[in-house]
Amino acid sequence: MKNNQKRNFLWETMTWPEIEERLNFMDTAILPLGAIEQHGPHLPVDVDYFDAYYMAIKVAEACSNPKPFVLPAIPYGVSYHHSEFKGTISVTNNALSALIYDIGMSLAHNGIKKLILMNGHGDNKPTLTYAAQMINRDARIFVCVETGETSDIDLYDLIDTHNDIHAGEIETSTTLAIRPELVDMSKAVDETLNLDNQYLDFTSDRGVSWYAHTQRLSSSGVMGNAQKGTEEKGKVMWRIMIEKMVEFVESIKSTPLAQLYQNRY
Ligand SMILES: [Zn+2]
Repeated sequence: MKNNQKRNFLWETMTWPEIEERLNFMDTAILPLGAIEQHGPHLPVDVDYFDAYYMAIKVAEACSNPKPFVLPAIPYGVSYHHSEFKGTISVTNNALSALIYDIGMSLAHNGIKKLILMNGHGDNKPTLTYAAQMINRDARIFVCVETGETSDIDLYDLIDTHNDIHAGEIETSTTLAIRPELVDMSKAVDETLNLDNQYLDFTSDRGVSWYAHTQRLSSSGVMGNAQKGTEEKGKVMWRIMIEKMVEFVESIKSTPLAQLYQNRY
């Protein structure tokens, strides 16, 4: 994807007078966030970062006019649990939350009133939730964190693998669908997790939050079944993910700030 291509919603390609003009009628911005971390022996390390940015742009393109702003994506995330695998670059929870807080406060200063943190990396979630609370506390704007909640249940319906959480059936499919040249299926493995405790199950509605170094659970770095990934499944997944996210973004974009708060409280 050529992100340097000029688009009237892509923040980084606009001039300041263009942004100022657009802020008169657009108060919603999407901030994509990812990670640079191992994704098994068959996928590139940028999957979470690339996909979050790709998704944000596709979603904005599919939104009605005027489209939400899309901000430059944050490539790095909290990935310490993958650090035994080379290629992983992790930042601390404190560094990431401070960065997101500063960006959020700066956006509020610009006039953004609704900020959607579009998170492509599950382990950023607690940090982003914390930053979102602090931005809301101090700038009193609407901030939310989306980490796949709008479409995860639809994706789980499409796959065969249980507990497919990292570089498995889902991410292999989604990468095959948009960047097949970067996937080496001859190295794709099945390392499906067998968790015999339903409360530790990562995809269960009753699952509690817990944290583990990937190497304790998987020798390849895959948690799921990468061999089940196909381009066809990936295309369906992208269509659903984009469709649900557009629905969500439209609902935020079209609702005045005061009313969003009314709905909440
Ligand atoms: Zn990933």
